[in-house]
Amino acid sequence: MGVLDGEVALVSGAAGGIGLATARAFLAEGARVVLGDIDGPRLAEAAAGLGPEARAVALDVTQRASWAAAVAAAVEGFGHLSILVNNAGISEPADVETLGDDAWERHLAVNLSGVLYGMQAAVPAIRASGRPGAIVNVASMLSMRPGAIFAAYCATKAGMVALSQTAALHFANSGIPIRVNTVHPGAIRTPMYERYLDMAEDRAAAEAGFAATHPMGRVGRAEEVAEAILFLASPRASFTTGAQLPVDGGGAIRDR
Ligand code: NAD
Repeated sequence: MGVLDGEVALVSGAAGGIGLATARAFLAEGARVVLGDIDGPRLAEAAAGLGPEARAVALDVTQRASWAAAVAAAVEGFGHLSILVNNAGISEPADVETLGDDAWERHLAVNLSGVLYGMQAAVPAIRASGRPGAIVNVASMLSMRPGAIFAAYCATKAGMVALSQTAALHFANSGIPIRVNTVHPGAIRTPMYERYLDMAEDRAAAEAGFAATHPMGRVGRAEEVAEAILFLASPRASFTTGAQLPVDGGGAIRDR
């Protein structure tokens, strides 16, 4: 018996990192999973070893038509849809003075509009499933404790938290059985994190710097975030909605 037996989940940004770890955790708990990503070749490679309960679909979260196709793939492939994980996200460093229009628009499109489009595409299918549904949106420690060089990232992640909470309230107020929660990773060793290390002049110093911003003294693993997403997506979190769950080794509450 798995905690997600009978559930069908759609996970965005699932070609690697936290999204792929989430898909694996869901599959291990009995869910069938549609993995979506804009990076087709990496997605195909990632999904290849996951077995018949997993399917890969091309998904650009900034396009409503792409979301509609991904939701249809879940319903047609596995019979219904009951869980959405909005995990796809981008992060490019720039402070408020140097942030360019293109970078700002990219962050808005993927990190904020992408989450809205995902929820709006998935909710009719989740409601039609007749099962209690769950949406988990992957925000960041940086929406709780901003960093100066992440202006667009912090703003869009904070925006998606507010969006998630309005959705949680709307569904609860309306008696619609869909819970909506956010997970807030600290620095997690994924391709996104590796790109930041690649940008650093001194990789070892950058690694030490990231670890030092987490009171537990290290960065996290994608599997540790996946466990939190799994909990919030599962019936074990049946009375939790509108919550923000940090997975950051104490980073958001650090005192030095
Ligand atoms: P990642 O870069 O490894 O994964 C993100 C995935 O999203 C990639 O596979 C990418 O191809 C996909 N993607 C990007 N744009 C897309 C689009 N338009 N449509 C569909 N897919 C798209 O990064 P990750 O660390 O696994 O990040 C997962 C989530 O966790 C992101 O939302 C990120 O902001 C968040 N997060 C990560 C960290 C960290 O330190 N790694 C910290 C806090 C929050």
